Amino acid sequence: MNINDSKVKNLVDWLRDAHAMEQQAETMLKAQSERLEHYPELRARIEEHITETQGQRELIEQCLARYDASPSGIKDFGGKMMAFAQGVGGSIMTDEVVKGAAMGYVFENLEIASYTVLIAAAKEVGDTETQRACETIIEQEIAMAQWLKDHLPQVVSAFLTRDAAPDAVAKR
Ligand code: MG
Ligand code: FE
Repeated sequence: MNINDSKVKNLVDWLRDAHAMEQQAETMLKAQSERLEHYPELRARIEEHITETQGQRELIEQCLARYDASPSGIKDFGGKMMAFAQGVGGSIMTDEVVKGAAMGYVFENLEIASYTVLIAAAKEVGDTETQRACETIIEQEIAMAQWLKDHLPQVVSAFLTRDAAPDAVAKR
């Protein structure tokens, strides 16, 4: 696999994007889980996905290493996701649990799109190891997206019940 090949170059660029995305995902998921004391089921699923996310980052690092390429670092992924993560980690007493779970669903779908791109590029280049790594990862992202979608109504209902409570402590 020649790194000077333009197809390979694109594949490596997209692997770097995925690496930055997974770093961002870990930061975001950790910020979210820390604040979910009243939503144990959601918290447990997020914690499970943190472990998966760390494994995904390592898989991508291995794909990059096979090309002697290093990860680009988180700054290259752009400020948008950064701002999003800070937003998720921000206020506590409002509807952040609902917004966080909804945005989590958006983020998982961004990941699904990114790995769909990577799988197609890896196939094109004939890099079966990268293809297999990304196929493993995308299954975890699809499962997480589906879980969040399935559980969003429950999260909304739990939030609305808490928010209707008369005292401020119960609301949180
Ligand atoms: Mg991921
Ligand atoms: Fe994910």
